[in-house]
Amino acid sequence: MDWNGIPREELIRWDRTIYWHPFTQMAEYEPLIFVAAEGCELIDIDGNRYIDGVSSLWCNIHGHRHPRIDQAIREQLDRVAHVTALGCSNPTSIVLAKRLVEIAPSGLTRVFFSDNGATAVEVALKMAFQYWRQCRPPRPEKNLYVALEGAYHGDTLGAVSVGGVERFHAMFRPLLFPCIRLPAPDTYRTPAGVPADRLAEYHLGLLEQVLRERHQEIVAVVVEPLIQAAAGMIFHPPGYLRGVRELTQKYDVFLIADEVAVGMGRTGRMFACEHESVSPDFLCLAKGLTGGYLPLAATLTTDRVWEAFLGRYEESRTFFHGHTYTGNPLGAAAALATLAIFEEEQTLAKLPPKVQHLAERLAPLRDHPHVGDVRQRGLIAAVELVRDKTTKEPYPWGEKRGFRVCQVARRHGVWLRPLGNVIVIMPPLAISLQQIERIVEAIADGIDWATSDC
Ligand SMILES: *Cc1c(COP(=O)(O)O)cnc(C)c1O
Repeated sequence: MDWNGIPREELIRWDRTIYWHPFTQMAEYEPLIFVAAEGCELIDIDGNRYIDGVSSLWCNIHGHRHPRIDQAIREQLDRVAHVTALGCSNPTSIVLAKRLVEIAPSGLTRVFFSDNGATAVEVALKMAFQYWRQCRPPRPEKNLYVALEGAYHGDTLGAVSVGGVERFHAMFRPLLFPCIRLPAPDTYRTPAGVPADRLAEYHLGLLEQVLRERHQEIVAVVVEPLIQAAAGMIFHPPGYLRGVRELTQKYDVFLIADEVAVGMGRTGRMFACEHESVSPDFLCLAKGLTGGYLPLAATLTTDRVWEAFLGRYEESRTFFHGHTYTGNPLGAAAALATLAIFEEEQTLAKLPPKVQHLAERLAPLRDHPHVGDVRQRGLIAAVELVRDKTTKEPYPWGEKRGFRVCQVARRHGVWLRPLGNVIVIMPPLAISLQQIERIVEAIADGIDWATSDC
């Protein structure tokens, strides 16, 4: 099929040779060109339909082309597409800031907008750092962050500095600021001799040791609440997040909660922090904030932080950070509509049967000889392939097992993107029971194919 008079073959050639795709080996890239979407389905250039099994990379919430969001963007477009936030404002972004404060965990009363997950984290890192230099009395010796192995907070250098995915980040180590790294509290691969019910306690012990010795130098602890997404959906044990909050309070260190992936209803609650009654000092949101429509992010923080930045112009206590499209009104309009839909359609109240259905359908996969683990929280699920089920030995990265599963799924009309050996299932919250069924059937078939040689 041609597109706007451009032959299909030309588009494919340009896509292969001009358009450099992120996290994609361009020497092997096989173009897959989506021209449209409808609800939870994507439509490619040949008219094939696929269920959007990973929400167009974890961001779509209410489905594609939701009339309510489409309409909100159109109405905003009829007023103005963009005005700067540097020293001025617009009603749509103002109201969004107000709405976010209303629904956020208590104490998060101030909102700084940016345009993607990495910048939401950069903002938190820099605000926290500057805070300690401007609080009374100043604490300029605080210049270290604590983060977890396998952490992923985005791809700009500050976010990569606190990131811990070796395959993505090791190369850039010489460019990065130092960071104290603690092992991930992984409920699947636990340390020898630590029983499951003591796992949180064990990891909190490691954190407390670091905080006890070095809290004077530590700006903040940065975590992805409950689930370390890009690491391969590593699930933390219950109580860990709560414990991190208590320890950071005890030692007067900030807690930065990166809910870019887990926020906006993904885990069954609006924010993952709610599961453990945690209010962080910084809450980072992006991905689902606009329902997966437009690049917009928010970093929420407290009165305490805000106040340390107040002063006369010439004192230079200002937060000297911003992006051209900070708080873009089109994005804000999409976000406001996204939040309105949560109420109007009772999205969260309708989730439990879907979550349950997905769990029931996935359960039989546990018996597969090459499925090491099936884990799920809300509408985030992961099926981890292993070479050896008893030792949990992974398949070598280069064998692309996860990728092969997703290739087979594609033939079933289901689009997925794996994380190495981990098959990620993260559909829009608007997904139907029948679509959930199709996703799991496609994966089950894919796993049989991709592991049949061994
Ligand atoms: C995706 C992600 C980011 C980065 O968001 P971008 O919009 O891609 O910059 C940051 N943190 C987490 C937890 C993420 O999953």
